[in-house]
Amino acid sequence: MMKKVLIIGGGVAGGSLAIQLIKKGVEVRLLDSGVNHSSLVASGMVNPMVFRRMNLSWRVQELLPYARRFYQELEKEFESDFLNDLNIRRFFSSAQERGFWEAKQHEAAYQDYLTVHADFDEKVKNAKNEFGSGLVKSAFWINPEVFMKQMHSYLIKKGVLSYAQFDVSSLKLETCSYDSSRYDAVVFCCGAMNDALPFFKKANIQHNRGQMLKITSKDLSKKESWNKKGFLLPLGDGAYKLGATYEWNESNLEATPEAREKLEMTLKAISSVDYSVKDQYVGIRPTVADRRPVMGAHPEHKNLHIFNGLGTKGYMLAPLLSLEMADYILEGKPLHKEVLFSRFYK
Ligand SMILES: Cc1cc2nc3c(=O)[nH]c(=O)nc-3n(C[C@H](O)[C@H](O)[C@H](O)COP(=O)(O)OP(=O)(O)OC[C@H]3O[C@@H](n4cnc5c(N)ncnc54)[C@H](O)[C@@H]3O)c2cc1C
Repeated sequence: MMKKVLIIGGGVAGGSLAIQLIKKGVEVRLLDSGVNHSSLVASGMVNPMVFRRMNLSWRVQELLPYARRFYQELEKEFESDFLNDLNIRRFFSSAQERGFWEAKQHEAAYQDYLTVHADFDEKVKNAKNEFGSGLVKSAFWINPEVFMKQMHSYLIKKGVLSYAQFDVSSLKLETCSYDSSRYDAVVFCCGAMNDALPFFKKANIQHNRGQMLKITSKDLSKKESWNKKGFLLPLGDGAYKLGATYEWNESNLEATPEAREKLEMTLKAISSVDYSVKDQYVGIRPTVADRRPVMGAHPEHKNLHIFNGLGTKGYMLAPLLSLEMADYILEGKPLHKEVLFSRFYK
């Protein structure tokens, strides 16, 4: 049985893995450089649908219910409140998209996720609704600022997390030791910063920069997250997150006026209400070309592992995949075939 694991990176990936390993009685050390690129900025929505062709998200039947239970248990453990149910209303961007929804709404696989299209979906106050809309079921959102803060304080209290940059010169590969402590495994969960370290560059984690605005408005729905080209997430007290951009191979964390303009256009495609912009956020999604996560061992240094590539869906993927990662490291349980790091060097 594995005893001691070092994790590099305390975003939703590394933090969830630390929690899973602690639950299994493993001694964990987690290093985080304190410059989070994604988990803190994210809007934290867990949406079962991929809207473009109205398909279910990858492995949603397993990932979504597990994620909900995982966060609910952590709310109890942290004595905190960060999980919120979410009604996502998709405004169809074309007659074809509406057709996809109507074709799928009666299929068994979609029963938990799509409501049957009704008359009231045509008349939504203050929304531009040319092709109608539909409500998604079973979605929720995690408040990332609360979750990340609580998760870090929990791991600090347990003596697991310290804020420090991983120093590759302090890692001895022959003995798998770091700072003169020996480990049974080291797991790299560095998100977009993966390529700053030498071991898993073959995964070719790409930078997909995302920007969002915080806006206020009196006239937008307080109960629904509206989605069309972009999304509006109600935060309470008339505030909303408006997102998001997808900017490939951009690594700068400074907000840009171009993104603000684009996001305001996104809002205008949904509604013509008055609003004020209060803030702008920037993050970098760690994304893989085939849109699947990356997990597994290094081909030469068998004690080194990667858990990365969570892309646009880290909050849905991290809970169950971190459990699968823990079972794989501790018991050698095979990982899902689509996530294997070995796909990059075969
Ligand atoms: C604008 C935007 C909106 C998003 N909205 C959603 C959403 O609604 N729902 C959703 O599920 N996902 C969303 N995402 C995606 C989600 O944020 C990511 O999938 C997820 O956060 C990735 O988590 P991670 O732990 O892999 O990376 P990160 O959160 O970036 O964490 C990596 C950590 O590693 C640390 N690190 C890196 N290198 C080192 C090193 N050498 N030494 C020590 N520490 C190191 C960093 O400090 C950082 O804290 C969004 C992302 C963006 C940018």
